[in-house]
Amino acid sequence: MNSDVVLVFMAKSRFGLNRALTLIALAILLTADINSANAAPAQLVVLLFQADLDSDRVFLDGPFAISKPNSQHFAPRHYQIAYKNGYFEITELNQQLGKPQRPPQKIRAPFLLLETAGPRFISIGRRKDKIRRYFGAIRLSSPDGKKIECRNLVSRRDYVTCVVGSESPPEFPVEALKALSVLIQTASLRYNPEDRLNDTTEKQAYMGADYARPEVIAAVQQTWGQKLLCGDQLVPIYFHGTCAGGTSSSEIFTGKKSKLACDKAVICKHCSDSPFSKTLIRPLAASEFEKRIAPALPQVQTKDSSNRPLQLSYPNGKTETGYQLWLRIGQTMGWGLAPGTRFELSKSKNGDYEIRSNGAGHGVGLCQWGSQGLAKKGWDYRKILQFYFPSSRVGQES
Ligand SMILES: [Zn+2]
Repeated sequence: MNSDVVLVFMAKSRFGLNRALTLIALAILLTADINSANAAPAQLVVLLFQADLDSDRVFLDGPFAISKPNSQHFAPRHYQIAYKNGYFEITELNQQLGKPQRPPQKIRAPFLLLETAGPRFISIGRRKDKIRRYFGAIRLSSPDGKKIECRNLVSRRDYVTCVVGSESPPEFPVEALKALSVLIQTASLRYNPEDRLNDTTEKQAYMGADYARPEVIAAVQQTWGQKLLCGDQLVPIYFHGTCAGGTSSSEIFTGKKSKLACDKAVICKHCSDSPFSKTLIRPLAASEFEKRIAPALPQVQTKDSSNRPLQLSYPNGKTETGYQLWLRIGQTMGWGLAPGTRFELSKSKNGDYEIRSNGAGHGVGLCQWGSQGLAKKGWDYRKILQFYFPSSRVGQES
């Protein structure tokens, strides 16, 4: 089994377009062969703070306990844990100033295992002013002897709940949350302990216990143990923010027509509430594009049925897929330029380039804003899932 990235799901937002553009969450795409023989893992391990892995310290708000290497309780105060010269150094910080209260306590150990103490979560972050709360336990280690890696050992159920909450705005209706719950559960059936799950750039957004809102907990409760099947196999799970008129099949990623009945492009007229349903036109300095992306504008050779570019060619004979170019533009110049994979590059009147796009994310699988639009029209989650994954059915884990 092998789960790997592809990307991108633009988070939708109640804060308007600009804010939404900054809320890029990344969705998982599973490249493994379809396989239904997976037993549900009871616990998952998630590498936290992926975006800030270079930090040599973490900050915690007590209470919490260290259970390994030795049991120790920490009161409701502020702490910093750093790793120096083979020792974890635990420093209690002054409430207001964040200054050390006394010399650090040093522990020599390959890792520290932190458990909850009192509340059901541990409050931890890379920065003093950016603490998040996590269910389960936290394992701190320093594989390179300098930086601290922080892993969350969390039950599959708490993980699914926090991901559904992190990937959905608070206003989304419960049937849309239930549809996402079945998708995240299906994806998690593919994980095994060797998979390196993380919280941002390669997997689903996972922002901790604060996103386990009551309606999300209820949606997961009502769908627990369910999975999405194509025949008797797990459906490969894709979802994105907004398709803006039609989804695409996984042909976008692979360049090959999918043979799977559940992996098809569908027409979607249900995501018009999304700030990304309209076409965005952004200027692009030709010199900048030519320096950082490609020496010239590409020619579109083929498009799919939803009008997304599939194959591109350049005057120098090179080729790439539309998806590859879209990723490179997003990663190099920012996702706000072309939030969706239905994009087009052209020359503008002043000799520079411009880029048009609509939708948000890769456009494959479930359209989240469409899912909320259908839920508002009274569709239940099973019908929503069957709409975006034709011929699929919701099954129950045995
Ligand atoms: Zn849509």
